[in-house]
Amino acid sequence: MTAGAIDTEALGSITVTMTIDGAAVAGAATIPVINPATEEVVAQAPRASREQLDAAIAAARRAFPAWRATPLDKRRAAVRAIAEVLRANADELAALLTTEQGKPLAVARGEVDRAAMWAEGIAGIEWDERVAEDTDQHRVVVRRMPLGVVGAIVPWNFPVTLAVWKIAPALLTGNTLVLKPSPNTPLTALRIGELLRNALPAGVLNVISGGDELGPWMTSHPSFDKIAFTGSSATGKKVMASAAEHLTRVTLELGGNDAAVVLPDVDIAEVAPKLYWACFSNSAQYCLATKRLYVHADIYDELAEALAEYGRSVTVGNGMEEGVQLGPIQNRAQYEKVRGFVEESRAAGHRFVLETPVDQERGYFIGPMIVDNPPEDSRIVTEEPFGPVVPMLSFTDADDVIERVNASPYGLGGSVWGTDVEAAVAVAERIESGVVWVNEVQALSPHIPMGGHRESGIGRENGVEGVLEYTATQSLAVRK
Ligand code: NAD
Repeated sequence: MTAGAIDTEALGSITVTMTIDGAAVAGAATIPVINPATEEVVAQAPRASREQLDAAIAAARRAFPAWRATPLDKRRAAVRAIAEVLRANADELAALLTTEQGKPLAVARGEVDRAAMWAEGIAGIEWDERVAEDTDQHRVVVRRMPLGVVGAIVPWNFPVTLAVWKIAPALLTGNTLVLKPSPNTPLTALRIGELLRNALPAGVLNVISGGDELGPWMTSHPSFDKIAFTGSSATGKKVMASAAEHLTRVTLELGGNDAAVVLPDVDIAEVAPKLYWACFSNSAQYCLATKRLYVHADIYDELAEALAEYGRSVTVGNGMEEGVQLGPIQNRAQYEKVRGFVEESRAAGHRFVLETPVDQERGYFIGPMIVDNPPEDSRIVTEEPFGPVVPMLSFTDADDVIERVNASPYGLGGSVWGTDVEAAVAVAERIESGVVWVNEVQALSPHIPMGGHRESGIGRENGVEGVLEYTATQSLAVRK
């Protein structure tokens, strides 16, 4: 599909419905959905009432016994069928994603394709029963059981991928689900719910959208067996506190302040574009974006120039237009927040290695910016802006840089870059985070567990570890 072929007005007139018990349900009220590139209202999404949340949970509860009893091979096939549905509708979903989220159309298409690949990958994940003891007296097998009804809450930066990251493992392991997208980007998840109505038994996957009240209603609800949450660390703390009332299990995939440590022996021309995209893909609205660039003093100036030069070649604009590589910030609140970081840096007299002009009359646009060696205690270094403003910081000593990297309350990801791979690995091993890469970054797969240390979260997604987060261990002891 070419960008010119998209009829955004037709998309705006699409009515998306919630999916409860396999049926279309309109909201008790509506919430406007805004295209961040144009600031136009493109759709009215359903705003679920508390009764509709109860109905979705009740439907998931009714569907649970038959779904958990469905042979694993059939559940694998059902999760693979999700991939087929996503692929068959990829053009439509990509256009919808660009319209509500802002990312360039080709990137949106990539997200839908990746989500399909993910469903397939998760569908193939195997786990074992383990014999814990086999004596003359008894045999004890450690097995895995589904938890029951899962409430899944996702953010607005990767609305398709992050929904599938929860749907696939939850359904594979025999749970049923109530999925809630962000009020900022509800359309793609709701549409996926519609598209999957015929692919799954009624009640197995329910998709509901709502206002700011819906998330707290879910986390405090007594009838969920687990809350699977992706979002900010601040909200994650509220989710955990709220879920504590009913001891509802949680996985929390939260914020990050990932560092890239660039050692002095790197090939600057080769790594500069990689580091640029590490920082700025998805307009830096990425939990695993590089948010602090620690560069050895010997190469600091040369790398700064290479990043600035590369940055000048990148086009920021409306994601529906051909050739655009970076879209807007997804919503006004986030736009104001990121601008706050920039203004604070300017007021503090920080210089900028890179500033990217944006030629747009409307929309929440901020072009990529790199701040030149700000003090280590400035907010741009210590906090997660979740937008395209990144501090570049100089270091000379490995112990010092590792201490600075690990001083963050976050611990999601990180990367080390160097030609001497052994030396780079030695640094990487000392970074306290859930994922760390050497000479690559953000390389994820359905088979690689990811998640955070400290305030970046609890639990893991993806891989066997991530799938098993949707299960409870049962030790089954049989007397001989
Ligand atoms: P957010 O925490 O504001 O919202 C996330 C979701 O939680 C939304 O669906 C929202 O409606 C809901 N929510 C808001 N308040 C709630 C409450 N009190 N109780 C229950 N639910 C509530 O996050 P965001 O701004 O949408 O997303 C950006 C953040 O997400 C960043 O910090 C980013 O790093 C993080 N993130 C983490 C990962 C990861 O895998 N670790 C992935 C993507 C994004």
